[in-house]
Order: sequence, then structure tokens, then C-alpha cells
Amino acid sequence: MPIESLRLLLVEDNDLDAMFITRVFQRSTMFDAEIVRASSLSEALEKTGQSEFDVVLLDLGLPDSSGLQSIRAIRERVTSIPIVVQTGDDRVETGFAAIEAGAQDFLSKNDLKDHLLTRLTIHAILRQRQMLELQEASLLDSMTGIANRRRCDIEFKNRSKTLSESGVPFCVAIVDIDCFKSINDSRGHDLGDHVICKVGEALRDASRPGDLVARIGGEEFAIIFGNTTIDELGTLQQQHRKAIEQLDFHPENIRVTVSVGGTCVLASDDSRSAFRRADLALYAAKKGGRNQCKIETAIRPVCSGQIA
Ligand code: GH3
Ligand code: MG
Ligand code: MG
Ligand code: MG
Repeated sequence: MPIESLRLLLVEDNDLDAMFITRVFQRSTMFDAEIVRASSLSEALEKTGQSEFDVVLLDLGLPDSSGLQSIRAIRERVTSIPIVVQTGDDRVETGFAAIEAGAQDFLSKNDLKDHLLTRLTIHAILRQRQMLELQEASLLDSMTGIANRRRCDIEFKNRSKTLSESGVPFCVAIVDIDCFKSINDSRGHDLGDHVICKVGEALRDASRPGDLVARIGGEEFAIIFGNTTIDELGTLQQQHRKAIEQLDFHPENIRVTVSVGGTCVLASDDSRSAFRRADLALYAAKKGGRNQCKIETAIRPVCSGQIA
């Protein structure tokens, strides 16, 4: 995808260098460049907080910061922005250290030539965009477009950390389409796929902003209910079950139901132990006749005489 315009944050304390670089970009006939200059790291950090940029061109020798410290500070503030470093230091090790610290590319000030500078900058932007797109795609289920198992695992870990550190409770559930095989067998795989997509979409629509719905298997979905106690879980599970029961498949004219099993997550849980409990609850819901919700509590009652 071509770049027709770009907003560049030029972090450079030397007026002559700044003028030269500004001119290089403004002279380019390939794109319109809007350049905002900062003469120190603190000014750069302030500007990244005020508006969005496509790229940062960073001088490593600044009055209030030097070397890799500047890269790290900007990276910390804006995780996804591409940074191209320009340095008065000709040693190639400095450039590679800059890349390790989070820069996309580097250029010695002695090599500041028009085409090299613009090419490096455009490359850095395009590479960063591609990387972000791939990163995003790697967290989505390609068939339904909702989150995938990887995303679910990442979210689980994040919520688990918040539970341990701040005590914010959360619950998980597994949703499984009932007798799905019979839809495949009687109406074909294409309709089966369509049903999976519609169910995923409906589950996502029924969830709250802090929840996550992910497809974790063929016709199985996981839900992470953020900031939720076990007392609230039953109602939420029922809302999702009903949303599927009420789905209107027109003109296919089929009815689809799901069974749901959930549990509250403990600080001692990892995703396997929590989802294993949810799976036990799901099994109970299937055994109970399907189209229903069950909860497996984390703490089982202690038998008399047993030491807790
Ligand atoms: P239950 O109520 O016990 O869950 O029964 P079920 O028929 O839903 O469960 P079962 O595990 O027997 O069958 C699930 C089927 O889902 C088997 C598999 O071929 C099908 N399946 C898995 N992934 C896909 C997919 O992406 N598309 C389609 N169309 N079918 C799939
Ligand atoms: Mg300088
Ligand atoms: Mg099923
Ligand atoms: Mg299943």
C-alpha cells in the first residue's frame, strides 16, 4: 500500500541537521510530509502524547538524553510507532544496539542523503504496518473473524495477573453447539460453517465491553467474563444461551441451541485448570439434556473429618 502522506516527528537538537532533513522530506514528490520538530526528548514525549505520528526520526545525541535511553523512552510511550535512528556515531554496533532497543532502522549522519533517508523511513513505516497487521491476524479466527484460542490465552493471563495483583474477579465459560454433527450430516458442511459464524457473532454481540468471546475449537467457544463474580455468572451464561436459542436462521429454517459450562477463576488457576472445570460443567449441561447452563464451583465442599 503506497504512502501518500506522512506525519513525521523529527527529534533533533541541531538546527542545521533539522533543516536539512525537513527539506529532504518536503522536496519529495512521492508523498506529502508534515514534519513536527522536537529539540529534546522531553519535548518529543510531550508531542507523542498530543497527536499521532506515522514515524519518529530520532537523533541519539540530545541535550536531556543520549543513546538507547531515548529509544526506550519513546517505545514505552508509543509501543507501535516505527523509530528510525540517526546517529553521529559511525560505528555499526551502535546502529544494531538501537535496533535491539526497539528502533526499526538506523542511519549514520554522514550518510544523510535524500534517497537513503526517505527510503529508510518509508520502509520502516511499511514494515511496521505489516507487522501490526500480521500480529492482529494472528489473534483472530480466520473463519468467524472473532478472537481465537491464542487471544483467549493472552487475555486469560492478563486477567489472571489483575486478579492476583488487584483482586478483580473473573469467570470463564465454554459454549458448545448442541448436536452440531447432525447439521453437518443432514444439511452439509457449508451450512455448518455458516452456523458456527452466526453463533460466534451472536455470542460476541451478547457480551459486554469487558468480556471476550473466542472460538477455541470446531463448534466450541470460550467466554471470559471480565470483573465478574460467581454470583453473576449464572445470569450471564443464560443470556448467551438465550441469544443463540433466539437466533433466526432464515431461509435455512433451523433451530440451534448451545450448552454452556462455566466457573469462577481462582488466583491459583492457570487457563488449563480453569477451563477443565468449565468443561466439567459443560459435560453436566450436555448430560442434563443440552440447551442449558451449568456452573462448576472452584471450591468443593470438604467432607466431615477431612482436614481443609
Ligand atoms: P454435542 O451436542 O454432544 O456437542 O454433539 P455435537 O454433534 O455437537 O458434537 P460432536 O463433537 O459429535 O461433533 C462436532 C462436529 O463438528 C464434528 C466435526 O466434524 C464438526 N466440525 C468441527 N469443526 C468444524 C468446522 O469448522 N465446520 C464444520 N462445518 N464442522 C465442523
Ligand atoms: Mg544531537
Ligand atoms: Mg457440540
Ligand atoms: Mg464440541
